[in-house]
Amino acid sequence: MVIVHSVGELREAIATRKRDGQKTVGFVPTMGFLHEGHIALAENARKQNDLVVMSIFVNPTQFGPGEDFEAYPRDEQRDIQLAREAGVDILFMPTPEEMYPHDGGIRILPGPQAKVLCGASRPTHFDGVLQVILKLFNMVDPDRAYFGLKDAQQLAIIETFVRDFNFRTKIVRVETVRESDGLAKSSRNVNLSPEERKEAPAIRQALSRGAELFQSGQSATDVEQAVANYITEQTSGQIDYVTMLTYPELATDDGKATEMILACAVKFQKTRLIDNILIQKDGKICSE
Ligand code: AMP
Repeated sequence: MVIVHSVGELREAIATRKRDGQKTVGFVPTMGFLHEGHIALAENARKQNDLVVMSIFVNPTQFGPGEDFEAYPRDEQRDIQLAREAGVDILFMPTPEEMYPHDGGIRILPGPQAKVLCGASRPTHFDGVLQVILKLFNMVDPDRAYFGLKDAQQLAIIETFVRDFNFRTKIVRVETVRESDGLAKSSRNVNLSPEERKEAPAIRQALSRGAELFQSGQSATDVEQAVANYITEQTSGQIDYVTMLTYPELATDDGKATEMILACAVKFQKTRLIDNILIQKDGKICSE
């Protein structure tokens, strides 16, 4: 595995390997503090491509004022070792100055998918996500890029971006990897207190119960209320939202949708956790 810090080195490293016959590039963008969720993305990329590129960059433009940019966990040495073990060929670790040397003021404006769920309380978050994804895709030019369903809204918005703007990159969805007690793996889990960590699996339990209630015929509104009640009873966290929408459109169901997302965000003392469950209208829970 080679580690590169500049865009020039990154392009050179990819070009060299392509000249050597490694034709297809799989790309795994991350913010680091790697865990098994990230590793699952890398393993999928490893299976489907000649070359695997991973980026580790805590992107300042997707954090709003007062959010946890400074407190976001970082551990470069551990990340390097885990990326190597996961079969990454090129690890790109740029500084903010390398990623953003200029600012001509041009911004990308996501559509209605970015107004709901996390977008309601983080109004500029997905602008920053699309900005960094566009830049990274231009740098790596991947055949395939791997994203986790843990961040289902981000994934839906990126799929729309890629479709509407004719990127050649195929977006590959990867299932959420969980702890044995059901908590979705997240770099932010280390910022939970020991008590909060014990309570946090209730988020996943609440979503599973919600999915069952929906399958048994309850309305989206009733399901949202039941999930919110369960989380409030079982945790000390504050609910940011519990919302059920169509997936991947992230719209209110007009009766025609085939797949729904039940998603929530819960604020704890030092961190905010998100999770979701995808439910097919024919009754199956198709992804968790
Ligand atoms: P992050 O480093 O949190 O920005 O995440 C980088 C990528 O890893 C995104 O595509 C996430 O959706 C994905 N990811 C994060 N956590 C998980 C998880 N528990 N299971 C699967 N993918 C994940």
